[in-house]
Amino acid sequence: MPKPIIDNSKCTNCGTCVGICPMKVFEKGEKAAVVKKPEACVGCRACEAQCPEDAIKVVD
Ligand code: SF4
Ligand code: SF4
Repeated sequence: MPKPIIDNSKCTNCGTCVGICPMKVFEKGEKAAVVKKPEACVGCRACEAQCPEDAIKVVD
């Protein structure tokens, strides 16, 4: 099962992943985005490609 991992030391909480994920896996947090619904991830890797900080890795 694919799921995204966020590097909190890189994430700026910009919200790009929140808006781009077709499955609404992410939510904005206080300081960094939160992987709210990892089980919904379909592995499209749009988040990984679009994160401006290169803070997301999608793992299997
Ligand atoms: S797109 Fe990247 S930097 Fe922006 S909130 Fe998501 S993980 Fe953080
Ligand atoms: S890989 Fe696709 S479905 Fe999974 S969290 Fe990223 S954007 Fe969402």
